[in-house]
Parts: sequence; C-alpha cells; structure tokens
Amino acid sequence: MSFLVVGSVAYDGIETPFGSEDKILGGSATYISITAGFFGLKPRLVGIVGRDFAVTDVQLLKSHNVDLEGLQVDNSGDTFFWRGKYHYDLNNRDTLETSLNVFEHFNPEIPDSYKDSEFVCLGNIAPALQNRVLDQVTRPKLVVCDTMNFWIEGARADLMETLKRVDVLIINDSEARELSSEPNLVRAAEKIQKMGPEILIIKKGEHGALLFTGSGIFSAPAYPLVDIFDPTGAGDTFMGGFVGWLARTGDLRDENMRRAVIFGSVMASFCVEAFGSKRLISLENGDIEKRYTEFMELSTIPEIINL
Ligand code: AMP
Repeated sequence: MSFLVVGSVAYDGIETPFGSEDKILGGSATYISITAGFFGLKPRLVGIVGRDFAVTDVQLLKSHNVDLEGLQVDNSGDTFFWRGKYHYDLNNRDTLETSLNVFEHFNPEIPDSYKDSEFVCLGNIAPALQNRVLDQVTRPKLVVCDTMNFWIEGARADLMETLKRVDVLIINDSEARELSSEPNLVRAAEKIQKMGPEILIIKKGEHGALLFTGSGIFSAPAYPLVDIFDPTGAGDTFMGGFVGWLARTGDLRDENMRRAVIFGSVMASFCVEAFGSKRLISLENGDIEKRYTEFMELSTIPEIINL
C-alpha cells in the first residue's frame, strides 16, 4: 500500500562513549523511509536538503526503494545539521548544535502523485507543518504522528490541532508525561487518547513499549542487546517498522497492531547496533524475521499449572 513520510533529512554529528562521527546521513524521514523500504514498500519521502547533500546519499536512499520525487533541493544553503552527545546512560542525550539551514523555510509540498497516500507518517517536525501535510492528502487510511518535548512546550496549540487529526501517536514516556501533565503512564494514555489519537504508543527506551488501543494495553519487551553503539534514529526506525508492517499488510486489527509494535522494536534494535543508519542498511534477507522470532521467544509466558 502507498506510504508517505514527511520529516527531516539531515546530516548528524554524533558522539557516544563508544566513538564519534562528524557528518553522517540522518533525519527522521531518512530513518523512517529506509526502514519502511524493508517491508516491500516504496516510501514517498517529502523533505528538504541543501547544496551539500551528497550524490552518494541520494543513491543510498534510492537503493532502499525510497521515492524522491517529493525531496526538495534548495541550493541556497546547506542541509539541516544536528549534533548530539550521549553519555553512558544512552537514554539521555545533549543536543550540542542544531543548524536548521534550508530546513528553516521548509514548506512541505505534497506532489500530486503522493496525495492519495494511504499510510501517512508525520515525522518529528513543527506541528503546524504536520497540519499542512494533512491539508494536502486526500484519503489516508492511517495517519501516524511523532512529536517531542520541544513542540509540547513551544507549539502546544498547533500540536493540539494536529492530535485531533491523527490516528496513532508515538512518543516516549517523558513526552507522554509532559503532554498530559500526568506522571502515571496509564492515566497519561487515557488523557492523550482524549486529545484525538485513538491509538497511542509510549516508548520506554531499553524497557520496551506500551500500545494503547480502544480494546486494551499491550506491553512489548525491548530486545536485550549487548552492543548498543548509537541510539540516534531509534525512535524514527521504530515508526518505520510499525507503520511499514501495517502498510505491507493493510490490516489494522488489534492483533496485527501488536505485530507491528514488535516489528518497530525489531527495527529499532538493529538501528542502535551501529552508528547512524549503518546497521540498518546492511540488513540481509532473513535478519528481520529471525529477530522477530527471538522477540516472540523472549516474551512467551508459560501457563500456570497449579497455584
Ligand atoms: P531520534 O533519535 O529518533 O529522536 O531521531 C534522531 C534524528 O532526528 C537525527 O537524525 C536528527 O537529524 C533528527 N533531528 C534532531 N533534532 C531535530 C529537529 N529539531 N527537527 C527535526 N529533526 C531533528
């Protein structure tokens, strides 16, 4: 099924306790679309890059089946640049630099050939821009949205408008608490669902993720990885895997949503194994299924025999 993603395409400088990279391909739309490409889709990417965007990166995206008709190239400046530093607690990071460059004037224009997209992924960009995307698409089957503390604090009114129009919101635990002003995640979820999204996913980093639907709560484990090198993009990769699976199957029933959460977790677990998108782009046939099976075994709960 058709799959649209709107978000940042960036160069990242990353420092973790295990090494550093000066300028590697990143951005929310990049991670989401590369990941969705593994689900037999041709993700339609809408974003903006500058004059420094390398031909090799264009080729990399194309080689992962990403449709670039909606990628704007603005030769008046450089590509959005973000620099972050992680400490041993990889759940927390410091943003050291955000140079918006051509992203500052990004106005998402959805090409006519994308307007009928059935699955719409709104990556982490200003809620006003997310709204502009929704004004342009004609018949989405599912709209999935990401956001962050920066917008919850700085663009709350716009974000509330966006939330009324999305089906699924994917955020992390601290964002859920801040958005709802509620420390308990179950109560926070109830409040957020009343803001619009019928379905909510709360990511808890190395502790897994919670899926809230109309019919209950599903708790997905996190994969107990030994090698975690760089968490950058894990959230976006989760979104690519979650929506990628739903778009591949077209099945939005509860049980399939659970599968999709596991596929999101599977893809995020690969993402963190190397810097940037390196591990993701090296995935081979069978890797994804194998890890999905490991996830199943990880959380099988045997029945009780006698109590
Ligand atoms: P994640 O680790 O999933 O939160 O996403 C990391 C990606 O988000 C990096 O590749 C950055 O380029 C990108 N990013 C960081 N800050 C912003 C921002 N303010 N707007 C859009 N994208 C951003």
